[in-house]
Amino acid sequence: MNEVNTDIHAVLKRFFGFDSFKGNQEAIINHLIAGNDAFVLMPTGGGKSLCYQLPALCMEGTAIVISPLIALMKNQVDAIRGFSSGEEGIAHFLNSSLNKSQIKEVKDNLLSGVTKLLYVAPESLTKEENIEFFKKLKISFYAIDEAHCISEWGHDFRPEYRRISEIVAQIGRAPIIALTATATPKVQLDIQKNLGMMDARVFKASFNRPNLYYELRDKTNPKRDIIKFIKDNPGKSGIIYCLSRKKVEEIAQLLTLNGIKALPYHAGMDAATRSRNQDAFLMEEVDIIVATIAFGMGIDKPDVRFVIHYDIPKSLEGYYQETGRAGRDGQEGQCIAFYSYKDIQKLEKFMQGKPVSEQEIGRLLLNETMAYAESNQCRRKILLNYFGEDYTQDNCGMCDNCLHPKKQFDGQEEMLNVIELIMSLKENFKSDHLANILAGVSNSIIKSYNHDSSPFFGIGKDHTPRFWDAVIRQGLVMHLLEKDIERYGLITVTGEGLFFYANPHELMLTEDREFAEGEDDDSDEAVVNVRHQGSGEGGDEELLSILKNIRRDQSKRLKLPSWVIFSDPSLEDMSIRYPVTIEELTRCQGVGEGKARKFGEEYLKVIARYIEENDIVRPDDMVVKSAPNKSEKRIFIITSIDRRIPFEDIADARDMEMDELLDNIESIISSGTRLNINYYIHQTIDDYKVDDIYSYFKEEADSDSVTDALKALGPDYTEEEVRLVRIKFLSEMGN
Ligand code: ADP
Ligand code: MG
Ligand code: ZN
Repeated sequence: MNEVNTDIHAVLKRFFGFDSFKGNQEAIINHLIAGNDAFVLMPTGGGKSLCYQLPALCMEGTAIVISPLIALMKNQVDAIRGFSSGEEGIAHFLNSSLNKSQIKEVKDNLLSGVTKLLYVAPESLTKEENIEFFKKLKISFYAIDEAHCISEWGHDFRPEYRRISEIVAQIGRAPIIALTATATPKVQLDIQKNLGMMDARVFKASFNRPNLYYELRDKTNPKRDIIKFIKDNPGKSGIIYCLSRKKVEEIAQLLTLNGIKALPYHAGMDAATRSRNQDAFLMEEVDIIVATIAFGMGIDKPDVRFVIHYDIPKSLEGYYQETGRAGRDGQEGQCIAFYSYKDIQKLEKFMQGKPVSEQEIGRLLLNETMAYAESNQCRRKILLNYFGEDYTQDNCGMCDNCLHPKKQFDGQEEMLNVIELIMSLKENFKSDHLANILAGVSNSIIKSYNHDSSPFFGIGKDHTPRFWDAVIRQGLVMHLLEKDIERYGLITVTGEGLFFYANPHELMLTEDREFAEGEDDDSDEAVVNVRHQGSGEGGDEELLSILKNIRRDQSKRLKLPSWVIFSDPSLEDMSIRYPVTIEELTRCQGVGEGKARKFGEEYLKVIARYIEENDIVRPDDMVVKSAPNKSEKRIFIITSIDRRIPFEDIADARDMEMDELLDNIESIISSGTRLNINYYIHQTIDDYKVDDIYSYFKEEADSDSVTDALKALGPDYTEEEVRLVRIKFLSEMGN
């Protein structure tokens, strides 16, 4: 395609297959073709690429497109070539992934003038030899995609981007089009200044994504919530963002364990695996990708139905970009973020080692995120305001705050108390210290300052320290208070706060925005058999007594002690979960598949009838299966016993005492797995002893207590012997 085609509608159809332009595209394209600079602000999915691809095809010379992502370049080049029927050289990319002969081919095509579009990674652009080469070309214009990478205030600052303007000047100025989906006024100004395009025409599209639903959730049990959410949305494509690589791995594994097709993606994985996982997600071999923010820029998957933030992002900007990957096709897009104040504190801590200026930016961005998370205002409104856009509608109908307004109260008195307390203290203190004073909770630090005898001590003792902490946080959000950045974490009163103190007025605070402390992320506690929230400990008393009756009858009929059939905790769990299938029954505490099949039918029938007769709504409970590191040991024990390895050797191999090994075996048995340990028992205990112990459990015992057994059996039997035979017994009887 050597002729210059100026019929942009024809080019749109021929090369891109579209009938009409979207949004501002046509105006932008005409502006650029006329030789002007353009600054394009358009949300993700708005159609920015076309704004430079199409003019490149229409104009004389080669357009240089600077873009940060190698994977993205290849996609785009392939797409354009796909439409250009055989004109391979029409689009190229130049980055570190090419070998010498490939580079030569690209350069030949460029020199011969067939290439209209050249994608360049910023680090390739800045190479001296390339600059010299580019000087020989006719450049139609420069396109700088993902231009927010220029700004430290953006969510993805890249130092190489800072050098672009200088390099462009060396190669020779041509029109510049800068494009980004990041539009905070600060970032916009930064980009324009840096690129020396203050006079460029700015094309700004609305950043509202009406099809996205925004919700913030307490991070009390995020793993369970996520599994439940995914199971409630079967077959839908989704991204789960975590901040750390470790978390990514962990969550991906957890989902897989729970029967969800998910793969991890983060920068610490080797390139091949990473791109394999990305492809599996794009090709819909897996529904879920669990990723750090390394994933997603430029990924054009139109039907991502949800984006979940396991951790709160470091900036609101990042949050907007990441949630923006949902619903690019204009259809459903649910954006759920988990928030706990602890996570904010953790992120603040991470920043401590960084240079002061970076810390300062980081903290400000983080504060904005916190304000967003804790706000009771329309999420959409806050986001759009953040991008300098007005959103005047009162109720967007598509965010948690609009759909479920939070209860509020007039917190004038409370805020005045906080401010007065801060002013009365000679030094500044952290939030938790202030909260403890107000709630009247003493500790060693409070005592060391004598604050337990301050007149403020306990003036708000009707409330918990958490309540006061929340008041202080809302004070921060409202700019009445401020966290001292230099002296980390200390709370001071702002000018606005002093003004409020002098002129108090009604101040609406949110009541139930007291977010939970959040789980401690680093504890790898497996959440086995999570109980339905709100069902309390007791369960259904009536059902429980029915179940106990069944067990008693069964025990008589089968001549088995009742505790061998189902333990009390198992029955209690049934009275909470109302299982009606064998599979559901196995989810109850201490019920393995063997037991469920052997004894369960009767219970299931009775429970089903009971549900029906009493109109019971069952909890949509689920098992979050245990984390793998724990099960690794169990699997090792089970397979070793299968291979008849002496217990001493099994214990040695995993550095356990015999006691601990028996503990493990008992827990394996009680979860329903059958183990045959006869080989070991025969080696170590006399047969007659085995018989005695066995018949004690079968005929005499009324519980599985080892202590009782030892008492009844007398001094000839050791605890270890009793435990071993009991394992045999439970395994044979129960499972
Ligand atoms: P952005 O870079 O702004 O996030 P893209 O350039 O990747 O967006 O475009 C998003 C989607 O919109 C792509 O699937 C693209 O093919 C599609 N698109 C772009 N322009 C048009 C158009 N004029 N008509 C229909 N679809 C379009
Ligand atoms: Mg893009
Ligand atoms: Zn809203």
